[in-house]
Amino acid sequence: MENIDVVLNALRKNNFEAYFAETPEEANGIFFSEILPALKPQTLSWGDSMTMRETKVLDEIPAKHPEISIIKTFDPAYSAEQKLYWRRQALLSDIFLTGSNAVTKSGKIVNLDMVGNRVGAITFGPKNVVLFIGVNKIVDSLEEAFARVRNIAAPKNAIRHTNLKTPCQKTGKCMDCRSADRICNSWTVTAKSFPKNRIKVILINGEFGL
Ligand code: SF4
Repeated sequence: MENIDVVLNALRKNNFEAYFAETPEEANGIFFSEILPALKPQTLSWGDSMTMRETKVLDEIPAKHPEISIIKTFDPAYSAEQKLYWRRQALLSDIFLTGSNAVTKSGKIVNLDMVGNRVGAITFGPKNVVLFIGVNKIVDSLEEAFARVRNIAAPKNAIRHTNLKTPCQKTGKCMDCRSADRICNSWTVTAKSFPKNRIKVILINGEFGL
């Protein structure tokens, strides 16, 4: 709990709106009872995140908030061109939901993307961003964050995407590949939220995501 308080305080000092949830269900409650009513978004989109999906917020939005128009970017029926079109539209959404790869004890958030639609949206575009992050993503430093993402999260993520072909799917280790399917293309370090509170973080007590 000591680490969690350190991170929450550091995030707040860095102008993030930070929350703590004991469980994904509690994170769901924070999202629906505190965050959404304050923002009243008309449009919503998301970037892939196992942690965000654990909270089931995405599943519940249509029934709880039919007034919110959801910009879908992952429909398997979409062509590559349609996916790209909708991912570009998602950058103009009122609220964007996703997760993150690591958060340091000094309150910096680290991400690595293949396409860039997630790091793009976290950085600029959507009026508000909500990040769902398990406490297993807490690291001591930026160096540890880069090492964790490169050596643990990225190979595991590549293995999950069976349609892609990368060497780490066989070795389980990052080979710093030159594969056309390389998933490690754009790093971001979000040091502060600008404007203040644009990025909201819900830290969830438990192991979630990669
Ligand atoms: S750089 Fe290539 S080998 Fe390394 S984790 Fe990313 S996809 Fe896998």
